[in-house]
Amino acid sequence: MTQVWQLADAVVLRSEAFGGMAFHRDRGITLEVDREAYDFLCTRLTPGPLPSASHPANHLVPQLVHLGFLQPVSGMAILAGTPPQASWTGDGITLSAPETVHLAITTRCIFSCPGCYVPHQEGSPELTVADWCDLMAQWAQMQVFQITVGGGEPLLYDGLFEVLACARQHGLVPNLTTNGALLNKEAVLHLEEAGVARVNVSWNSPGGDDRDRELAASRALRLLLDSKIQVGVNLLATPVLLLRIPQVLAQLQALGIQRVTVLRPKPPAIPGDGDTAWYDSNRLRRADLLRLRAVLNSWQAVLALEVDSALVSLMCDAGPSRLRRRGIHGCTTGQRICTVWPDGRVTPCSFLGDLDAGNVRHMPFAELWKRGRNWEMQRDPDGRPQGSCTGCVVVVHCGGARCIARYDRRYAAGSLQDTLSSGVFAGDAECPYYQKAT
Ligand code: SF4
Ligand code: SF4
Repeated sequence: MTQVWQLADAVVLRSEAFGGMAFHRDRGITLEVDREAYDFLCTRLTPGPLPSASHPANHLVPQLVHLGFLQPVSGMAILAGTPPQASWTGDGITLSAPETVHLAITTRCIFSCPGCYVPHQEGSPELTVADWCDLMAQWAQMQVFQITVGGGEPLLYDGLFEVLACARQHGLVPNLTTNGALLNKEAVLHLEEAGVARVNVSWNSPGGDDRDRELAASRALRLLLDSKIQVGVNLLATPVLLLRIPQVLAQLQALGIQRVTVLRPKPPAIPGDGDTAWYDSNRLRRADLLRLRAVLNSWQAVLALEVDSALVSLMCDAGPSRLRRRGIHGCTTGQRICTVWPDGRVTPCSFLGDLDAGNVRHMPFAELWKRGRNWEMQRDPDGRPQGSCTGCVVVVHCGGARCIARYDRRYAAGSLQDTLSSGVFAGDAECPYYQKAT
């Protein structure tokens, strides 16, 4: 009897201009496949045979099975899904819908960390739980894969757990970023019950001077490590932290942390509205980035290390074909991600906070995403980072950290003129890969 196979229940499919995407909700893995492979995946929403040896999707089968996307079916018939219908499949550069939506659910916070990107607007109106749940329904319709809820400090938002649970009920994977100070046993239990997949604790200066912060972050991490939730730490790699980053990573490992996300200091999200003095003295120069790369290379076999979108140039030695095979995308602001702010504005990411496409209070999210007003530069299929990035062979995979490029353009010009949108293609002058690329 021929063995029949079916997509795992946890797999979400989405048609795209280049073919399609498959996201495994339990494993947090996204695959991008061409049209033939996508059509095959759609057929396996119902049980059936594997593709024949001559089928173009045949070579993907071992990987699909290994990653848990395809499973053998035995016994009783299994409920079949139907292929999702998309009204817009993107343009190949911009996806039909974000992979991840960042929710800056509140700008309130109990701390005032230097370098925080969030513009603090006291008393500004916040979307309600009902507003967020309405958005979850819209995102589920668009097949958005996951959300990351941050702030400000998201645990200050009344109704946070309901918003997270609502995401899970709509089939979206909810994740949370917090400073950890308000986490207690009860809160961790609520996060578990809401179905949160991962919590990242922002711990900006482990081993630093602030003893209270230190104790709060390690207490929060211990509570999370005792739960079913995946736990990670966000480390802001300032030049001061770089001086002791091996000790910091060892400290996190000793605590039981396995996942560490390294973040690059970035300029204020809204030009002219933030602490540029902090950024100017904490930005990473090329020498810092080279040092960071050396440390991360020596720790990558020990910890599961991730870098943020502005640090993908650290991986660019891998070359274009490996970056493509591994699905590595750097700065994809407004193409694959976006941020929704507490007042409903939608921006291409959290660090281009002035480029809003409109407000979810006034327009359906799908329309805002598709029209991308103010995002034309980032979405230009022919647009490429210039300056130091001109001619770089991995430019389509890296993207040249547009928030930093834009700030540098302003810095060079000495004014905001010509930088609000067009500056995003100025290139990353500190890139450690640049010397090799030219
Ligand atoms: S030169 Fe620019 S595009 Fe190339 S790796 Fe560096 S930052 Fe990225
Ligand atoms: S502009 Fe690009 S590099 Fe900067 S935060 Fe946004 S996505 Fe990341």
